[in-house]
Amino acid sequence: MYDVIIVGAGVTGCAIARELSKYKLNICVLEKCNDVGMGTSKANSAIVHAGEDPVPGSLKAKLNIRGNQLYEKFSQELNFPFKRNGSLVLCFDENDMEKLLNLKEQGEKNGVPGMEILNREEVLKMEPNLSDKVVAALYLPTGGITCPFNVTIALAENAYTNGVKFNLNTEVSGIVKVEDRYIIKTNKGEFQTNVVVNAAGLFSDDLNNMISNDKINIIPRKGEYCLFDKEVGNYVTKTLFQLPTKLGKGVLVTPTVHGNLLVGPDAQDLEDKYDLNTKQEALDFILNKAKLSVQDVPMSKIITSFSGLRAHGSTGDFIIGEVKDAKNFINAAAIESPGLTSAPAIGEMIAEIIVDKLSPKKNVNFNPYRKGIVKFDELNNRERENLIKQNPSYGKIICRCETVTEAEIIDSIKRPLGARDMDGVKRRTRAGMGRCQSGFCTPKIVDILSRELKQMPNEVTKFGNESRLLIGGKNKENI
Ligand SMILES: Cc1cc2nc3c(=O)[nH]c(=O)nc-3n(C[C@H](O)[C@H](O)[C@H](O)COP(=O)(O)OP(=O)(O)OC[C@H]3O[C@@H](n4cnc5c(N)ncnc54)[C@H](O)[C@@H]3O)c2cc1C
Repeated sequence: MYDVIIVGAGVTGCAIARELSKYKLNICVLEKCNDVGMGTSKANSAIVHAGEDPVPGSLKAKLNIRGNQLYEKFSQELNFPFKRNGSLVLCFDENDMEKLLNLKEQGEKNGVPGMEILNREEVLKMEPNLSDKVVAALYLPTGGITCPFNVTIALAENAYTNGVKFNLNTEVSGIVKVEDRYIIKTNKGEFQTNVVVNAAGLFSDDLNNMISNDKINIIPRKGEYCLFDKEVGNYVTKTLFQLPTKLGKGVLVTPTVHGNLLVGPDAQDLEDKYDLNTKQEALDFILNKAKLSVQDVPMSKIITSFSGLRAHGSTGDFIIGEVKDAKNFINAAAIESPGLTSAPAIGEMIAEIIVDKLSPKKNVNFNPYRKGIVKFDELNNRERENLIKQNPSYGKIICRCETVTEAEIIDSIKRPLGARDMDGVKRRTRAGMGRCQSGFCTPKIVDILSRELKQMPNEVTKFGNESRLLIGGKNKENI
């Protein structure tokens, strides 16, 4: 019997879990995938939005602003990368200047600090690679970039070390209310709890609709991206948006916090919540759109493409709070953009609702700090030498593109809620994220995972279930 069960270990569920671990509560997270952060939280633009875009008065506006303010503190406590690089919303036509001014006014209503309208010369001083079409821009100094995998993993690890239980590979298939508690049916048996938090992302409508007559509907809205090599990572320094449309904030060009260049996304409303394919026409569309913002898009430096699915809710806003006809069932649903930015604030908001209900004592042992994996690549030569003396596996480079050592990979597996598959190692260490996209390091990482997890190499998967990398062979010698 739990006090609180959170369904979904994306950035929303993990931020809620971490916030609730500040209290003496028996908490459990149920996640259907093999790892945390396997849903929308692993494929997005990774921007910590300044907050000019959401409609004033909406939950999106309020939580975006608060989330943005919390990012520095969170990144320091939880040791994940975050950079306040600033954003620019570009205007390409003098006739659209009014729209740009309206956006600034909207930002002011939302409480975005420090915004400025810049003319072409002023913007060019900031970003020399802008296209000839740019006539002016709205500058948002509080915009930032982060690493969505690291944010989610850091929140989960910290929640876990503060006492939250995580049940991975556990899919919720039904929820029933029995007297004053909920029984949650899963592929791993039944769980009982006082309070349910629905943080199931794209599937948060299914969960809500299992228990409430107040039905909601989530539309999967796909966005595709091209990721460029680090060689062109400083092509722009700020996140470049185009004036937003009805479908969202449009195609952006941005440096990533790890030093790549990212272009995307588009917006396609789908029916299939599993369709993560990328298509030539969508990639052509975003690259053409990017040419509006910057000149000479360095097309030959694209190293991969990917897509993510936004959980677009029918109300247009986040759906957060206790469901009217289901006491103690709390939604954190329809968390589309700016959900990554807002996650720390959503955590606060949901925790406040639950603390109000259950009046728990404070967890006096709560430790807000989490230490991430040492990044060998970021150390100077002396620090590297010292580390290798202490642990020789820091001397073995496994991923050459991103300079990731064997010691980092072992740490990613052995740490709390450690990696259990190739993609888990990749998201924690960046091994396989570089120019060769894991062409060289895959066999070595399979070996390390197999050794550390005491699995046969042909049992090692890319992302759990049957996503095996090797087939055939009954024992190690046969493979
Ligand atoms: C193209 C795109 C660009 C974006 N850009 C930005 C951006 O730049 N900045 C920003 O702030 N936001 C951005 N977002 C939004 C942001 O990524 C999301 O708001 C955020 O990741 C949502 O997190 P979540 O935890 O709510 O959902 P998810 O990450 O999808 O997590 C939900 C979890 O629930 C699990 N689950 C679902 N059903 C069940 C079940 N029945 N049983 C058990 N587990 C279940 C899933 O496996 C998943 O792990 C973008 C989104 C997209 C798609």
